[in-house]
Amino acid sequence: RWSRVKGRLRSTVGEDIYSSWFARMDLESVHGESVRLSVPTRFLKSWIQAHYAERVLSCWQAELPDVHRIDLTVRSAMRCAAPVREAPATDARRPERSEGRDGVELKTVATAPASANHDALGGSPLDPRLTFQSFVTGRSNTLAHAAARQVAEGRRGDSVMFNPLYIHAGVGLGKTHLLQAVTWAGNAGTERRVLYLTAEKFMYGFVAALKTQTALAFKEALRGIDVLVIDDLQFLQGKSTQAEFCHTLNALIDAGRQVVIAADRPPSDLESLDDRVRSRLAGGLVVEMGSLGEELRLGILRSRVEAARVHHASFDVPEPVLDYLAKAITHNGRDLEGAINRLLAHSKLNAQPVTLEMAEREVRDLVRPQEPRRIKIEDIQRVVARQYNVSRSDLLSSRRTANVVRPRQVAMYLAKTLTLRSLPEIGRRFGGRDHTTVLHAVRKIEALVSKDATLSDEVELLKRQLQE
Ligand code: ADP
Ligand code: MG
Repeated sequence: RWSRVKGRLRSTVGEDIYSSWFARMDLESVHGESVRLSVPTRFLKSWIQAHYAERVLSCWQAELPDVHRIDLTVRSAMRCAAPVREAPATDARRPERSEGRDGVELKTVATAPASANHDALGGSPLDPRLTFQSFVTGRSNTLAHAAARQVAEGRRGDSVMFNPLYIHAGVGLGKTHLLQAVTWAGNAGTERRVLYLTAEKFMYGFVAALKTQTALAFKEALRGIDVLVIDDLQFLQGKSTQAEFCHTLNALIDAGRQVVIAADRPPSDLESLDDRVRSRLAGGLVVEMGSLGEELRLGILRSRVEAARVHHASFDVPEPVLDYLAKAITHNGRDLEGAINRLLAHSKLNAQPVTLEMAEREVRDLVRPQEPRRIKIEDIQRVVARQYNVSRSDLLSSRRTANVVRPRQVAMYLAKTLTLRSLPEIGRRFGGRDHTTVLHAVRKIEALVSKDATLSDEVELLKRQLQE
């Protein structure tokens, strides 16, 4: 039966994906409605859980309708103490045998030559609308924009000013837009080769190259480009890909090539990343793009309307509607874009001009009355202190008695989940604690909340108080 399930899986995901991710998955047990499967590494486990959990379940259900739950575990036999290799230059010449690394399982499968590394180097698809021309600047992104322009306008052989350029911001605040703008502008002249890759694509390209034993070519090709642009670095997972990323980064930077990176958090908060990679990332220019101010939101809306009018000349959004949208949709650029798209669709389909009433109706679900971003760490400390009957200065102090330690951990946990502050920043605001202390607190409370109903209720209550 297990082999039939595997067969189904193979045909739903395709041979390539199957051999990359599932070839070393084993059946441990079937008990009533739950099935226990195992894989050799944590990386594989989290990858499968994040991307294929439902498909694995439905393949099982097709064979055994009673199955409602898949438990994925990591087989302990393969402990990979990944000795991350240091020197990138010699590394490139080493034969591709790297037993003992996390991810080694991925190369023991299929050996058919394929164009996988070629695909990876084709880069991720670019959206032609995401250019500097359509990028609106405002207080929160001036610096990031200026740095990105500078990078895009640099010429081969120019001394590189900030390397890597690392841009971080929350969802929908323009990271991808800016990175693709750099790529378009950089490739406009034929002189330089600019490559835009999402971290996932980097990872997939590398894994595929290992599989087909073209890893060397993949690395060489990566190192042959002038500007490497990596989006969503927070998704880079797995020891061997991270090690490879580290080598690529070092090799490019040492050769005076430009690297541009975007992520949803600062380097110090990329918890799964190797320390050396983190410090290398932090060694260039790190710029945060903050939330979009009202002016900027208005600018983005206008630019979207302009873009729509190229194809739909009769489309227009009156000033009061723009003003309403800019005030009501405060969260992110994606929702602003979505709002304009809806108004366009609606007014086209019904052949009606856009009105304020229409706008209010159409974008209701994009309007978020509560702004989690506005919650302040001070408020959290105040509310938590009140709830647990301690003083705010106790929370910030170094006292370690139980009645203070738990509330302090709860407060740090809330600070991490309700604000966009980084771990080091939260540590600083809690009496100068280290970011690892904050991380420990966050993990601790996360673990407790799932077990301890009372604590879970308390935390929920605190959240509600803070959000009101
Ligand atoms: P991120 O990658 O940070 O999640 P995106 O770059 O995908 O965000 O931006 C989301 C949407 O908002 C896109 O449609 C993008 O064009 C738009 N956007 C965000 N910031 C700006 C800006 N400064 N100027 C113009 N459009 C923007
Ligand atoms: Mg993005």
